[in-house]
Amino acid sequence: MNRIIKLDRETANKIAAGEVVERPLSVVKELIENAIDANSTSITVEIVNGGKSLIRVTDNGDGINKDDILIAFERHATSKIRKAEDIYKTNSLGFRGEALASIGSVSNIVLVTRNSEDKIGTKLTLSANKVVDKTNVGFNRGTTISVMDLFFNTPAREKFMKSSSSETAAISDIVNKLALSNKNIDFKYIVDKKNMFITKKENSLIESIFSIYSREISKNMIEIYSDTNSLKISGYISNVKLTKANRKMQIVFVNGRYIKSKEISEALRISYKTMIPSGRHPLCFIFIEINPSEIDVNIHPSKTEIKFNDDGLIKQEIYKTVRKALLENDLIPEIELKT
Ligand code: ADP
Ligand code: MG
Repeated sequence: MNRIIKLDRETANKIAAGEVVERPLSVVKELIENAIDANSTSITVEIVNGGKSLIRVTDNGDGINKDDILIAFERHATSKIRKAEDIYKTNSLGFRGEALASIGSVSNIVLVTRNSEDKIGTKLTLSANKVVDKTNVGFNRGTTISVMDLFFNTPAREKFMKSSSSETAAISDIVNKLALSNKNIDFKYIVDKKNMFITKKENSLIESIFSIYSREISKNMIEIYSDTNSLKISGYISNVKLTKANRKMQIVFVNGRYIKSKEISEALRISYKTMIPSGRHPLCFIFIEINPSEIDVNIHPSKTEIKFNDDGLIKQEIYKTVRKALLENDLIPEIELKT
């Protein structure tokens, strides 16, 4: 047993899949990112049973060229870069060419796609990346990819998945954030055949917050805005009547990407100090635009942490902007202002 052998392609893919596809939510994220990269203006996400039975993403984007359909499921197969240097230039969310190969190796897939250069669409059925069927079908431009029976051939991973409701909650969290941060795309989200929300490009941010979250949240929000030459801050913060026991609804995007930032949470804490009970946290949807050279984004795709070169400045600007908005809404008690 100590001889060295090279693993066959399927075994190698299955092992690699563990890195890209940890849970149903990683599949959802990869598929939505592919749809965004394909210049879609409309994306529908459907899940059944926490994504364990079905994850389907439909887009109206570029589609995949007829002759490229099979190679798309090979590892390191991508249309987005040609050489290593390109990764510094590409604006696309993916470029490693790993997602479809990884997802395909641990599920059953039906892909229907049509590229504008092709007269007819193609329907490809795969089981663990093996072709079951490939036929021509009539189809609009774009792509529908259905991922079924996730981890059916990797029982250890299958067991590792949480209950359908926790997997659904994790998926909803990421779909919500992607819908919020891609205002130029119509999103529709369907869970177990039930429509969860629709957002439209022409909707305002607060209308999308209402569609995605709730009336209660949207009606208790205060708009914030500031623009200095180094930093633009916009979005909404909650008034003092609406707080949560955790910080999960402190949602921050930097240059369009969802991130977690201790500095921003801290700036919010100080801004609301004495105005809300201790142990309670404000909600926010904050969009920050900053020169990319001023941040250090961990480039690992699953990481959301970010480092600001000048985190003092960020904290100060958030504090100033939030305080100003709270003040204008007459929510800061007089006594507090004098201190
Ligand atoms: P990557 O996104 O890193 O390039 P993927 O494995 O996710 O790798 O996808 C492989 C290729 O398949 C992509 O480069 C793209 O050309 C094509 N592709 C995948 N999904 C879509 C889609 N929804 N629309 C158009 N092309 C797609
Ligand atoms: Mg991709």
